[in-house]
Amino acid sequence: MFDLRTPIENLYLVGPARAKILKRLEIQNLGDLLFYFPRAHQDLSKITLISDLKPGEFSNIKAKVLEIKTFRTKVRKLSLTHALVGDETGSITCLWFNQPFLSKVIKPHETFLFSGKVALEKNKLQLQNPIYEQEKPEQIHTKRLVPIYSLTAQITQKQLRTIIKTYLDKVTLPEYLPSQITKAEGLLDRNSAVHYFHFPPNYSSLQAAQERLAFDEIFQTQLKVLQYRKLRQRQQSAQISNGPLLQEKIKRLPFQLTNGQKQALSQIIRDFTQAYPANRLLNGDVGSGKTILAALALWLIAKSGYQGALLAPTEVLATQHYLNLRKFFEADGISATLRTSSHKSEPGMVNIGTHALLEETVKFSKLALVVIDEQHRFGVEQRAALKNLHNTHLLTMSATPIPRTLALTLYGDLDISLLTELPAGREKIQTELVAEPKRTETYKFIKEQIKAGRQAFVICPLIDPSDKLEVKSATAEYEKLTKEVFPDLKIGLLHGRMKFEEKERVMQQFQNKELNMLVSTSVVEVGVDVPNAAVMIIEGAERFGLAQLHQFRGRVGRSDFQSYCFLFSDDPNAPDNPRLQAFLNSENGFELAEKDLQIRGAGDLYGTEQSGYHFRIATLSNLDLVQKSRDYADALLTQDPKLDKHPLLKQIISAQPQVHLE
Ligand code: ADP
Ligand code: MG
Repeated sequence: MFDLRTPIENLYLVGPARAKILKRLEIQNLGDLLFYFPRAHQDLSKITLISDLKPGEFSNIKAKVLEIKTFRTKVRKLSLTHALVGDETGSITCLWFNQPFLSKVIKPHETFLFSGKVALEKNKLQLQNPIYEQEKPEQIHTKRLVPIYSLTAQITQKQLRTIIKTYLDKVTLPEYLPSQITKAEGLLDRNSAVHYFHFPPNYSSLQAAQERLAFDEIFQTQLKVLQYRKLRQRQQSAQISNGPLLQEKIKRLPFQLTNGQKQALSQIIRDFTQAYPANRLLNGDVGSGKTILAALALWLIAKSGYQGALLAPTEVLATQHYLNLRKFFEADGISATLRTSSHKSEPGMVNIGTHALLEETVKFSKLALVVIDEQHRFGVEQRAALKNLHNTHLLTMSATPIPRTLALTLYGDLDISLLTELPAGREKIQTELVAEPKRTETYKFIKEQIKAGRQAFVICPLIDPSDKLEVKSATAEYEKLTKEVFPDLKIGLLHGRMKFEEKERVMQQFQNKELNMLVSTSVVEVGVDVPNAAVMIIEGAERFGLAQLHQFRGRVGRSDFQSYCFLFSDDPNAPDNPRLQAFLNSENGFELAEKDLQIRGAGDLYGTEQSGYHFRIATLSNLDLVQKSRDYADALLTQDPKLDKHPLLKQIISAQPQVHLE
C-alpha cells in the first residue's frame, strides 16, 4: 500500500532530477501527483482509416510500419525520421524532427497507433510528429479520451501521463464520504472519480468524476468552516444587554440612522446577549456608514464595563478613526486610546489601532469585543494576530461585495449583516475621464470648488510595486502642484514612508480644513473619511484595479455637497479600457464587482485567493450544490462533532487551510 505522503523523489520512475521538474508543478508527493488533474481531454477514441484522412484534422490511425529511416538535412543539420505506414486502405508517411532514437523503437512489421495532425506536403498527406503507442489492453496516449496536462519545461505530455498512470494503477483510494451521502447524491466513489478524471472510459464518466470531486472540495470547506463555527459557539463570552442606554446615545447622534443601519445594529447587539462569542460580518458598500455602527457597539461594550478594540489595516486609517471617534467616547467618560507599531499607549476602555493592538505585550483585563475594519485588507501576519480571540465577540467590516455562494462557503462561519443603502441626501458623484488637453480647464474648475470651501484629494499612480517609486511620484506631483499649478493653495503630502507623527499631522490638518488639497499615494485608499472633501483626482487611473478605483471615489460624496471624480491617464487607449469604462458607468460596488469578475474571468473570484482555499474543480457558481453540501456537513457534525467516527475525513480536513479569521 502506498502512502500518499511519499515524497515525489522517492518514487520509482521519478528520481531527483524529475522530482525537481514536478515540484515546479506543485507536485510534492504521491497524493499531489494523483490529484494533478488534466486541464482537458483530447478525444482520440475514434480510429480513422488512412483513406479517410483529411488535411488539417487531428487524427488517430492504426497502421503497420512498412519502412523507417532517419537522415540529416543538408542545410540545417536537422535529424529527420520518416516512416511509411499502412492499413488495409492505403499508406501515409509519418515524420518526426530530431528524434533519431525512434528508429530503434518503431520497427518495421509492427503495428502501432499513431495520432497527429494531418498535413498536406507536396500534394501528399503526412502525419507530423505523431504520438505513437503500441496496441495494448488499455491505451494511455491514443485511442481513448487522452488527458492533457498543464506542463512545464523539460517534461512532455507522454512522460507525465505515463508517471501518473503508473501510480494510479498501483493505488486504491479509500472512500471517506458516508455512504448515505454518496447514495443520496448518486456520487461516484472516490477511487473511481480520481481514476476517471485522468483516464475516463467516456465523457459521461469524466463528468461524473468531476462532479464527485467538486462535491468533495465544497464539502470539505463546509466541514472546516462549520466545525470552526461550532467550536466558537461552545466558548464563553461576556453577555451584554442594555438597549435603552444605547438608544439614548443614538438620539444624540448628529444624524438619523438609516433603516438598514438600525437593522444591522440590532443584529449586532442581539449577538452580544448570547452566552457565546459572536462572529458577524457587516458588509456594505463604500460610504454606507459602517463606522458609526462599530462605534455604537464599542460604546455599549464600554458602558457595560468591558473593553473593546477597533482594528484597522493601516496606520493612516487607525489614526483617522481615533481622531474622528475620540470625542464620541470621551464625551461620555469612556477612555479611548490609539495604538500602532509606532504609537504605543496603555489600554483604555476603547482601543483603536492596527494589529499592534493584539501583540502579546498589550494586556487587556476584560476585552469583550474586537471590531475589524476593512477585513479584506488584512495581511497574513495581521490575521495571525486574531488567532486567539476565542472568547471575544468579533465584528468584521468589509466593503467588498460577497456573492451568496461565497458567503455560504468561505465566509460560512460568519453571520452576515448587509447595508444595502447609502445615507440619504447623497448626490451622485460626477465621474469623468479627462483628456490631457482639458487638464488646465479642469484645474480651474477644481480651484473654484476649493474657493467654495471644498477640499480635494490627488491620488498618484502606482508606478511599480515597490513603494519607493510610488513615493517619488507623489512627491514630484506635490512639487508640481505647489510650485506651478496651485501656488496659492495649501497642499499636503501623504505617503507610506513618512514618519507616524508626520502622517498624523497631515491627516489632522486635512481634517481641520487647514489644507485645501491632499496629494497622496494609495494609502488613503481604504476608509479615510473627510466629508468636506468633494473632489477626487486620480492620476494614472488605468493602473489601478476596479475595486481600488471604487475605494478612491468613495472618499468623496460623503456629505450633501456635489462631488467630482476626475480620472487622468497618459495611456492613449484609456478611453477604451474596459475597467475605466465600467467605472465611468456605475457607482455601485456590487455592480462593479460583477463587472470586475467578467473582465478578469471567473477563475479569479475575489476573496478566494487570499483565503488560501483554491477550488480547482468546483466553481462557486452552483448555489444548489453549495447549499446541499452545507446541509450534509451540518448534519454530520451534529452526529460526530469532532469527526472521531470519520477518521479519514478528519485527517483530510485538518490538512485544509485555516478558515479566514482563525
Ligand atoms: P464606510 O461604510 O465606507 O466605512 P463611513 O462609516 O466612513 O463609511 O461613513 C461615511 C460617512 O457617512 C461618514 O462621514 C459618516 O459620518 C456618515 N454617515 C454615516 N451614517 C450616516 C447617516 N445615517 N446619515 C448621514 N450620514 C451618515
Ligand atoms: Mg470604513
